[in-house]
Amino acid sequence: MNLSSKLHETAQALPEKLAYYFMGKETSYGELDAAITKFASGLEQLGIKKGDHIALLLGNSPYFVISLYGAIRMGATVIPVNPIYSPDEIGYILNNGDVKAVVSLDLLLPIAEKSHHQLPKIEHFIICDSNQPEAAGINKQELTIYPKMRAFTDVVAAGRLDYIGPELQEEETAVILYTSGTTGKPKGAMLTHKNLYSNAIDIGTYLNMDENDRMITVLPMFHVFCLTVCLNAPLMAGATMLIIPRFSPKDVFDMAREQGATIFAGVPTMYNFLYQYESGNPEDFKTIRVCASGGASMPVALLLNFEKKFNVRVSEGYGLSEASPVTCFNPLDRERKPGSIGLSIVNVENKVVDELGEEVQPGQVGELIVRGPNVMKGYYKMPEETDATIRDGWLYTGDLARMDDEGYFYIVDRKKDMVIVGGYNVYPREVEEVLYDHPEIIEAAVVGIPDPDFGEAVVAYAVSKNPELTERELLAYCDERLAKYKVPSRIEFLEELPKNTTGKILRRALRSQVIEAAKQ
Ligand code: AMP
Repeated sequence: MNLSSKLHETAQALPEKLAYYFMGKETSYGELDAAITKFASGLEQLGIKKGDHIALLLGNSPYFVISLYGAIRMGATVIPVNPIYSPDEIGYILNNGDVKAVVSLDLLLPIAEKSHHQLPKIEHFIICDSNQPEAAGINKQELTIYPKMRAFTDVVAAGRLDYIGPELQEEETAVILYTSGTTGKPKGAMLTHKNLYSNAIDIGTYLNMDENDRMITVLPMFHVFCLTVCLNAPLMAGATMLIIPRFSPKDVFDMAREQGATIFAGVPTMYNFLYQYESGNPEDFKTIRVCASGGASMPVALLLNFEKKFNVRVSEGYGLSEASPVTCFNPLDRERKPGSIGLSIVNVENKVVDELGEEVQPGQVGELIVRGPNVMKGYYKMPEETDATIRDGWLYTGDLARMDDEGYFYIVDRKKDMVIVGGYNVYPREVEEVLYDHPEIIEAAVVGIPDPDFGEAVVAYAVSKNPELTERELLAYCDERLAKYKVPSRIEFLEELPKNTTGKILRRALRSQVIEAAKQ
């Protein structure tokens, strides 16, 4: 079984069932499956073959869903790319990923054109219509990629409805995901049909997803969290996606209320925006039965405040691109523990190990490692990095964690983000939790910078609601709650914190900023 064949099965059994709702329009499983089949067949007619690589340069839209499942159905490998990357970053991925065809929104043509200068070998650009008049401002005929351009609708129209794709093997690569990469260039995690299918089913089972569910799909589809939890899992369960192109608290609340959403999944930054949104109220989330958080650590104060304000339960989970992504989640039928990423989900094993790879005692901190059908095949064309990351069948996550006596895991921090002050380990997260607990603080991030006396020093950044709050007051507040060596050596107030498109706070960008500033 794979994603595409399972969707086909659902479409046969429940053709009328609503697959997604997007911009006021409803599309059934039968209609979606037909579009996927025709797109798959249309790709083959263009000369694309099993094993070829197709990049998706798309935001959240049905185009993404049809392209992903269509490409998979005809045996191609999909490389989703964040469309707001710079042309250089996109160029790097398209090049490293040996991309043969690109599916892109017309609005992104200037980016496709710029990346193409570095990549003349791309054979096809399949262009989706945004229905936005400004897109018409581009004179397509003047683009050098023009001869390689096809309209998405033409590719679908040329496809055959009786098309049957090739046999797919479970170990074949379905998707290559370029991970944000903690150091150096991004690496392409190769996820097989088995990886993606098993994780979509396992997280769906864990969240009791079924046909009656209506999932808010607002996280970016090119990111693995959305891909599995908000796209594949609902489609595998025969549920309905409520697709929102871009995150805004108003759109999420309106969608949830008007369409009777049952599941919301977001990153902590989204929860923070929703919490701070003044006109949000419990009525908006009345039909929601699961609020899932992941992608970054959820500050405990935010989790509790959110639950109280909206009268819901928030369950945190954890994952990474290399594990398709979900490995842990707080259970729905047992206690959810704030600050914890929960228990191992079905079929996936997690354990905490020391430097030698030996499992440590409950309560002790070590590296989190993972094993299961969801663990990637390896990094594309990077055997050394693959061997360093997957050892004896276990994926080394690079995250520091501990497990309690009941098997709940807690992410302490990224291994690389740990700050060592005069020989003591400081986990930025611990300091951030204290800052988030302050009633005036909206957001906080903590980094380590070089220090001549202690090796490293802790520096905090905070966004405050109250312009009168001083650094001194906040330091005094930290002093009361943290061991001396963990108290930031200074705190800077910012208007907002830098984040990537998934909403993760860019600690490393802040760190470089402060180091650069110190040099001047
Ligand atoms: P990505 O591959 O972009 O999904 O990033 C994966 C990384 O996000 C993990 O290795 C963790 O460092 C971080 N992450 C994901 N979920 C959580 C969580 N619930 N708590 C803390 N960190 C998380």
